[in-house]
Amino acid sequence: MAPRTHWLFGDQLGPHFLDPRHGGPDADAPVLMIEARSVLRRRRFHRAKAHLVLSAMRHRAAELGDRVRYVQAETYADGLAGFGGHGGRLTVCHPTSRAALDFVNARDEVDVLDARGFLLTRTEFGAWAQEQTGNRLRMEGFYRWVRRRHELLMDGDEPAGGTWNLDHDNREPPPRGCSTLEVPAPYSPAEDEIDDEVRHDLDRWERDGDVSFVGRDGPRRFPVTRRESLAALRRFVSHRLGDFGRYEDAMLAADPTMSHSLLSVPLNLGLLDPAECVERAEEAWRSGAAPLNSVEGFVRQIAGWREYVWQLYWHFGEDYRGRNRLRHTAPLPDWFLDLDAEAVTANCLSTALAQVRDTGWTHHIPRLMVLGSRALQDGWDPAAVTDWFHRCFVDGYDWVMLPNVVGMSQYADGGRMTTKPYTSGGAYINRMSDLCAPCAYRPTDRTGEHACPYTAGYWAFLHRHRTALSANHRMARAVKGLDRLKDLDELLEETSERGDRAP
Ligand code: FAD
Ligand code: SF4
Repeated sequence: MAPRTHWLFGDQLGPHFLDPRHGGPDADAPVLMIEARSVLRRRRFHRAKAHLVLSAMRHRAAELGDRVRYVQAETYADGLAGFGGHGGRLTVCHPTSRAALDFVNARDEVDVLDARGFLLTRTEFGAWAQEQTGNRLRMEGFYRWVRRRHELLMDGDEPAGGTWNLDHDNREPPPRGCSTLEVPAPYSPAEDEIDDEVRHDLDRWERDGDVSFVGRDGPRRFPVTRRESLAALRRFVSHRLGDFGRYEDAMLAADPTMSHSLLSVPLNLGLLDPAECVERAEEAWRSGAAPLNSVEGFVRQIAGWREYVWQLYWHFGEDYRGRNRLRHTAPLPDWFLDLDAEAVTANCLSTALAQVRDTGWTHHIPRLMVLGSRALQDGWDPAAVTDWFHRCFVDGYDWVMLPNVVGMSQYADGGRMTTKPYTSGGAYINRMSDLCAPCAYRPTDRTGEHACPYTAGYWAFLHRHRTALSANHRMARAVKGLDRLKDLDELLEETSERGDRAP
């Protein structure tokens, strides 16, 4: 029998998506790829993100040569026309969004295969989730279970080094007096004629008024081919992993990448498999090339957080998207939507917004404690915040956005994902960065001309949700702190006077 054509979505670009073993596509299956313009037309994406996805798809098509039919169409449905109508069947690996899964499930001619690009199947996760007391899911328990199951960083039944969690070694502030970490730079790809062609198309579509973007595009900073992705992984493991752990949560204005891996883009495009990333990191520890705290920290990010987030996206169900436990409804201000870093005085926020504008990327602490925290403190609509992160980040996809933004960053699920809201006053940002010293505000000031918007915003947030948060044992002490503030009325008045003006 002739093999069925296999349809590759734009985030299924690595060789593992075409591997016929273990229930994969038919051997030597012809490949279909659809570049659907409507995806870009629907929302205002970061231009670097549009560039990366199109460049990655077109590079993959060039590699596959005659084996692929590359269709440029208005929609996926248009792109599928001509397939199936003649009794031909298609296979596709389980897509990464609910909308795409519903779409492929509704097509009679499409056989949906298991997901690839993650360590666990949905069924395996479902079985683990059922065993958790009272259905209370926690990342730490999940992570330990994944480590055991995949024998990751294990010595027999025991965690390597005798401990599961080295977080306490991985929360150091940046080294004093240094403006950069002074680690070798991350992998940097060279653009080619496919990138030129993509840029040319994006210019043309923008000129024709077909699509509109936010942010700056280029030069390309992230891998778009398997070869580039492997080079990026190698460079990270050999030159940067060693310092990953210690300064994982620190921020330096002049060093946005610090020792982070920058691998979320190739991972989320399906160009790297998470198993190979964690295996390489473990090898580095076992050969003495990287310390355990860094390797455990990295394995925790990938085998723990990334995997957990993927599974929770499906586990929480479709209505998770609309959760808004704190009833936050304020629209996102224009300066934020437009990534207008110059309009912002607060140095931490202006720096993070400029990084997003210029690269579509920041590491996890600016995402959580600067950008997300601003949204939470100011009561912005969590669905709009989720949409913003999805559009503006080069590694943003529906599955990764919902748990990270609705749950982790905006606490809109009332604590299903995290045990407490992630927000802080300026003291945390001051301790973990060099951003406060040159700032026009002072992290210690709650009121007055130099009041730090994070410090004032933190107390205003606690005040607004006093009743709900005092019932949370991890927040009760912080809420009680409100009673000691002699200037609370003044603080609330000043915060409300600022409204949605850029801080
Ligand atoms: P590293 O710090 O080097 O970490 C290694 C890898 O771990 C990452 O490449 C990523 O694949 C994985 N990882 C770590 N944490 C998470 C997590 N919470 N969820 C998923 N993967 C994780 N990650 C995305 O991949 N796409 C997103 O759109 C995204 N949005 C986020 C939004 C918010 C508000 C927050 C708090 C986090 C978000 N993250 C997202 C998680 C994390 O910030 C990024 O994965 C990381 O910053 C990417 O940079 P890196 O590759 O250098 O990561
Ligand atoms: Fe940010 Fe406040 Fe520090 Fe300024 S003082 S950088 S606003 S935390």
